[in-house]
Amino acid sequence: MIDSDLPLVVGRLLDGVPELVDPRQPAASAFDLGLVRGDGIFESLLVRHGGVRGLSAHLSRMAGSAERLGMQAPDRSAWASLAAACADGWPPEVEGVLKLVMTRGLEGIPGPPTCLATLAPVAQETLRQRREGIGVRILSLGVASDERARSPWLLGGAKSLSYAVNEAALRHAEAEGAQDVVFVSTDGLVLEGPTSTVVWAAGRALHTPPLDSGILAGTTQADLFERAEHDGWTTVCVQTTTADLIAADAVWLVSSVRGAAAVTSIDGAPRGDAGLTPSVHHLLDLDDH
Ligand code: PLP
Repeated sequence: MIDSDLPLVVGRLLDGVPELVDPRQPAASAFDLGLVRGDGIFESLLVRHGGVRGLSAHLSRMAGSAERLGMQAPDRSAWASLAAACADGWPPEVEGVLKLVMTRGLEGIPGPPTCLATLAPVAQETLRQRREGIGVRILSLGVASDERARSPWLLGGAKSLSYAVNEAALRHAEAEGAQDVVFVSTDGLVLEGPTSTVVWAAGRALHTPPLDSGILAGTTQADLFERAEHDGWTTVCVQTTTADLIAADAVWLVSSVRGAAAVTSIDGAPRGDAGLTPSVHHLLDLDDH
C-alpha cells in the first residue's frame, strides 16, 4: 500500500509521448522483461530545489547502457520531456529521486521497450548518510579486474536493472553492522560500491579507479573531478588496493542521490576524512541549507 502522504509521481513514454499516470495504479505488464528477467537499464537522478540534476550526463550514460545491452537507443528529447513532466510541481523543499527505467519490453510479445519514470522523496537514511558518513565492508565481486573488459556479456559499464547481487551485498554489509560496500576484484583491486563510485583524497589529489575494470562511469565522480580541478585539486584515475584506501586522507562513496558519503570505517576500523567532506559537498553543490 502506498502512503498517500508521500509525494509520488509516475510517468511513462507511450510512442515517445510523455504522460503521467496514477502512482497507485500498476504502470507495467506482468510480462515485462524488466520485471521477469531484470532485462533493461535505468538511471537514478537527484531532484533538488525542484530541478533535475545532471540530466544530460545521465541520458548519455543511458544511451551507452542501451548499446551494451543491444537495446534500441533512448530518444533523448522524449526522456527529457518525461523527466521535466515528472519534476513539474515537485515540492522544492523535498529532495527527490527520479528513476528512468527502460526495459526490453514484453516477454514473447514483440513491441517497443517499456519506458517508465518514478519520482519519490529521497529516504531520510540516505540524507543522514550524506551528512554523517558510512561504514563499509570490503567484499569480493568474484571477477578479475580485467574480466569484464574481455567478456562483454558481463555488461561491465552498463547500468542494467540486474541489481540483485548489489542489493545482496548491501544486505550482507548491513548484517555485519556496516552501511555500504566496496567491491574488490579477485586480483585485489578496488572496483566500486554497489550503487556508487569510490573516490579518495591523498594530499591535494582526488583519486578514483579506472573504467577498464568494468565499473560504471559515475556522473557524480566526473562532475566532482571537473569542479575540483577548477578549485586547484589534481585528479587521478588509478588502480588501487584496500591498503591504499586505508592510508588515504579521506574516502567517499559518491553517487547522484546521496552525493558524497564519507567512509567512517573500513571493515570495522574507524577512519577520518581530514575535515574534507564539507569542501566536497560544496563542490557538489550539496551544502546543507
Ligand atoms: N556505480 C554503480 C554500480 C552505481 O549503481 C552508481 C549509481 O547508481 C554509481 C556508480 C554512481 O553513479 P552516479 O554518480 O552517476 O549516480
